[in-house]
Amino acid sequence: MNYTEMLAVAFAEAQAGFEEGGVPVGAALFAADGKLLGRGRNRRVQDNDPSVHGETDAFRKAGRQTSYRDKILVTTLAPCWYCSGLIRQFNIGTVVVGESVNFAGHLDWLREAGVKIVELNDSACIDLMSRFIAQSPRIWFEDIGEDCC
Ligand SMILES: [Zn+2]
Repeated sequence: MNYTEMLAVAFAEAQAGFEEGGVPVGAALFAADGKLLGRGRNRRVQDNDPSVHGETDAFRKAGRQTSYRDKILVTTLAPCWYCSGLIRQFNIGTVVVGESVNFAGHLDWLREAGVKIVELNDSACIDLMSRFIAQSPRIWFEDIGEDCC
């Protein structure tokens, strides 16, 4: 499975989240050989739980892993501080980012820690998040911990 195919799994989660009225960020954790370990999406709105981001959901669904250095975390949007902290805490080796246009995240902070960052600059990810931010700005800014309009 290549990075684009991996992103398709995360994007399907983001799309499902959008249709549920949630923040459309999807993610998936893969083993080094491309085996899917877990997939998930931001369900902060759906579950009324601010701790469920796409990355944390996929991470939890994957269950315990003995090491994360050889794992690949794929996410439709550049990770926030909370998810970036998770990546560094568990030493996840590779992070594939669908887009960093709508939210730049903290990719340099991850690179400094030796995380391999793969940016795909995917137009479908950019479009979906743009639509969401335009229609639900308050939910979006709440999600990234910033003040809204
Ligand atoms: Zn996050």
